[in-house]
Amino acid sequence: MSTTPTAPTSANPGWYTTGLPHIWLPYAQMKTASAPLAATRTHGTTIELSNGRCLTDGVAAWWTACHGYNHPHIRQAVEAQLSTMPHIMFGGTVHQPALTLASRLSAMLPGDLERVFFTDSGSVSVEVAMKMALQYRLNKGQTGRTKLLAFKGGYHGDTLATMAVCDPEEGMHHLYGSALAEHIIAPLPQDAASTAEFLRLLKTHAHELTAIITEPLVQGAGGMLFHSPDVLRTLRKAADEHDMLLILDEIFTGFGRTGSMFACEQAGIVPDIVTLSKALTGGTMALAATVARRHVFEAFLSDNPEHALMHGPTFMANPLACACANASLDLFEQEPRLEQVQRINTLLTQGLEPCRTLPGVKDVRTLGAIGVVELEKIANPDALRQRFIAQGVWIRPFRNIVYLTPAFTITEAELHKLTTAIYTVLSTP
Ligand SMILES: *Cc1c(COP(=O)(O)O)cnc(C)c1O
Repeated sequence: MSTTPTAPTSANPGWYTTGLPHIWLPYAQMKTASAPLAATRTHGTTIELSNGRCLTDGVAAWWTACHGYNHPHIRQAVEAQLSTMPHIMFGGTVHQPALTLASRLSAMLPGDLERVFFTDSGSVSVEVAMKMALQYRLNKGQTGRTKLLAFKGGYHGDTLATMAVCDPEEGMHHLYGSALAEHIIAPLPQDAASTAEFLRLLKTHAHELTAIITEPLVQGAGGMLFHSPDVLRTLRKAADEHDMLLILDEIFTGFGRTGSMFACEQAGIVPDIVTLSKALTGGTMALAATVARRHVFEAFLSDNPEHALMHGPTFMANPLACACANASLDLFEQEPRLEQVQRINTLLTQGLEPCRTLPGVKDVRTLGAIGVVELEKIANPDALRQRFIAQGVWIRPFRNIVYLTPAFTITEAELHKLTTAIYTVLSTP
């Protein structure tokens, strides 16, 4: 990628050529990465580029834009909030958007998940969950229980604390190894052997563990790996038997993506702490939430000031973001989102199934509005992405998978275009 400004072209406007040499992109080798696209507008399931081209979006902005881009109901909510109170500190003041959102989330979540701590990114909501789990023990006078049990294939964020509960080898973070806190990483208990190993690690380390953390049903960044609801029931039972908290990271799965509003509903279990972000605001603004059950919250109620949760992001519970989230929840109530997810699942399954017989394809799987084609290997995900762009679709392969996580409002024709592009590109090496 160019490191010095170049002259504007018809495709690339001045802001692009002047600004790009000053930008550091995510997850990219800046020396060799192909140039990013200059996006100028979004609407529905479409991304418009400065050169006038339109791409059909198969990713929905890292699966956040579940109602499609620029939904008028969310836009109106933000505009109204912008004119009354764009932001105010949450240390000592509260406001209607945040309190309404907190009560709505508690009503939607199972059991007594009823205390909401707002933050501004998914990683930070996981850090807050980790701090809650740590301090839960300290406040009860239980020392030495500072570790978490997490899983191979797991992903919980890119910050230093969350990297330590990601898969240490498969993840993006193995380089940082010795700088990270040490937690216990076990296989997900999916069969007799992995269950035995999980239970062995749990027993061996019970004295130093405070919680188990996992993504329910889908390990997203780990490669869209699916597991059955039985696994979550096994974790809930094991957590209860060993007096551990169970943290479910629903940042990817929350808000309908797997077919139910929250993935934990499919297992009929209640975690002690749940983290939410991604689709929380319908893909419009940054917001996250860590939601705790009553017994977790009660461990922080004390006459000792040190027992308070010492955390407070500057922009926590930002009113604009909370207004977006409330508007997004309205749309889940007013429009048939979960039925749309079922329909998408049928179409994804039909559309991707033919890929199974293509050379180099290892697996094709779908769950809710997630469609995955797993390959033996993708030599150059970046080059593959360029081939999808040439087909007029925005699809971002990573590791060894090509996946779709479209908006729930996508049309049948648009979905057909996406699955056809995948088949076409994968059938011509
Ligand atoms: C995206 C994601 C995160 C991190 O969220 P950020 O907002 O990127 O910090 C954590 N956990 C899961 C399961 C995610 O999908």
